[in-house]
Amino acid sequence: MANRKEFTTKTRKAALKRSNMRCEAVGEWYGLGPGQRCHAGLAHGIEYDHIILDANSHDNSLENCAAVCIRCHRFKTANHDTPTAAKTVAQSLMGMKTKIKVKIASPPKSEKPAPKQHASPRRSLYAVRTSL
Ligand SMILES: [Zn+2]
Repeated sequence: MANRKEFTTKTRKAALKRSNMRCEAVGEWYGLGPGQRCHAGLAHGIEYDHIILDANSHDNSLENCAAVCIRCHRFKTANHDTPTAAKTVAQSLMGMKTKIKVKIASPPKSEKPAPKQHASPRRSLYAVRTSL
């Protein structure tokens, strides 16, 4: 399974923040009603689930990452082979995304060029000693 990609820590953190510590699982894919969100508290355990299975999409973006409860994750893992359901879940999450703003740390600003140092005129400090 060397090719299997996982979400980055950054993506997981952002997904968790977006979830508000509530399971993001939506719809039949997770054994819920159509369009229904689980909302179970995530205090007892969090799974980061590929909404569209990565075997098909290799998508590890935040949009494809759902912070879900253990129960939902188990359900999906056991029943995971209807691509249309996955698409529905993804669309539901996309809708949520517009309501909940997720802040992702912006990359560090590029360094400003260092200001030119004022070159002070250098005086020759040579003192020729002629003592013999
Ligand atoms: Zn759940």
